[in-house]
Amino acid sequence: MVSKKEFNGYIRSNVRKTVKDYKLLEENEKIAVALSGGKDSILTLHMLNALKEEYNLDLVTITIDEGISGYRNEGVEVARENAKSLGIKLIEKSFSGEFNFKLDDIFSFYKSACIPCGVFRRYLLNKTAYEVGASKIATGHNLDDEIQSFLMTFARADFKRFPKFGPKLDTIHPKLIPRIKPLWNVPEKDVGTWAILNNIDVHFAECPYSHMSARSKIKEFLNKMESNRKGTKANILKSFDKTLQLQKKPIKLYECEKCGEPSSLNVCKACEMFEEINKLILD
Ligand code: SF4
Repeated sequence: MVSKKEFNGYIRSNVRKTVKDYKLLEENEKIAVALSGGKDSILTLHMLNALKEEYNLDLVTITIDEGISGYRNEGVEVARENAKSLGIKLIEKSFSGEFNFKLDDIFSFYKSACIPCGVFRRYLLNKTAYEVGASKIATGHNLDDEIQSFLMTFARADFKRFPKFGPKLDTIHPKLIPRIKPLWNVPEKDVGTWAILNNIDVHFAECPYSHMSARSKIKEFLNKMESNRKGTKANILKSFDKTLQLQKKPIKLYECEKCGEPSSLNVCKACEMFEEINKLILD
């Protein structure tokens, strides 16, 4: 049985190794932490806060309320409490404040609520981080999230997405803030154990739309594989890391003709979806 002290030591050295091996941080950086209130984002914030002095980091957190009734409010509250307890500034943004709709109003236009949720959340997160002058955005993606995305890419033969994976995404456009994933090598169950062992206030509830996503099916499959054959997930991550080195080619980005945000197409995905949603609402 591992003690709390040993477990916390393992989490710290796991994160520190990813930060060091992949050069996630540089001295004197302003890092925006995407803080949903879920266990992964809360652990990311606590780990970066522990590295704050060593790297002389200026930390700020960004919370986005997508407008999911009965779910997101509690997460936002937990985000506020954690940011406050660590003395870190929290910037709150919402789909309704920025786009005039909630995810609840528009999710039914898509096959899965996660499609508009992801597009608009990434858009708002990047825009806000750029406005506050952050040099990187830290997200709470853990080992499980990363291998799920990896397998989804294979399932869709969508290899163009490869450059978007890995613990650190390079700067490819001055208005696209690069992402770092300090929990890249931490399994999801260890993140939950950390929160429980340390009595950290986190939002454990599951999003009511999560069952609609392909990710939830892949997650179930991977959990079954792992319980039958321990080490499967770690091995997939290793294969992923190797494939990544082979496939990583820089993508060319432009500025969206409509909103000026960085985009791989002439019009960004968010503007394309704004147009679709406006048409559907007016019809
Ligand atoms: Fe958004 Fe889907 Fe995550 Fe829910 S599960 S918060 S809809 S991405």
